[in-house]
Amino acid sequence: MSENNNQANPNPCNDCEVLEKGNRHTPPHQFLTRTEFKAVPSQFGNVDEHYYKCSKCGKSWLHETGSYGQGWK
Ligand SMILES: [Zn+2]
Repeated sequence: MSENNNQANPNPCNDCEVLEKGNRHTPPHQFLTRTEFKAVPSQFGNVDEHYYKCSKCGKSWLHETGSYGQGWK
């Protein structure tokens, strides 16, 4: 009986659905607010971690950019 706030809303809004199919080149949509940024060096190249929260559906996002980022998660 524990709740994870990061997964409070199982149904992302239409704008967030676009990100689920996007990649690291997909820009954040207009309802996202950036909450944190971390630069993460790795042996393959930097991974920049941008944390966002959607003001429409409440979904939290991690956007990995940089030369070895994996996009939206
Ligand atoms: Zn959303």
